[in-house]
Amino acid sequence: MPLMHFALGDRLRLRKPHPCGSYDWEVVRLGADIGLRCEKCGRRVLLPRSEVERRVKQVLPKQPPSDDDSDYEDQ
Ligand SMILES: [Zn+2]
Repeated sequence: MPLMHFALGDRLRLRKPHPCGSYDWEVVRLGADIGLRCEKCGRRVLLPRSEVERRVKQVLPKQPPSDDDSDYEDQ
């Protein structure tokens, strides 16, 4: 199994959808446990790294900053 590397702000696509219907989560905390925030409903969960690695289908890199598309994700 390849070792997955996560960074704050990375977006993870999971194998199963959240009950709200979204597959995509953002990494909001790193450590022995990984904090994820659902991109659709904003719910946060804390999962052991091994659990996250089992559930992730794809790691989506951070969106590069662009001038013509300003979004304020901190809010
Ligand atoms: Zn959700």
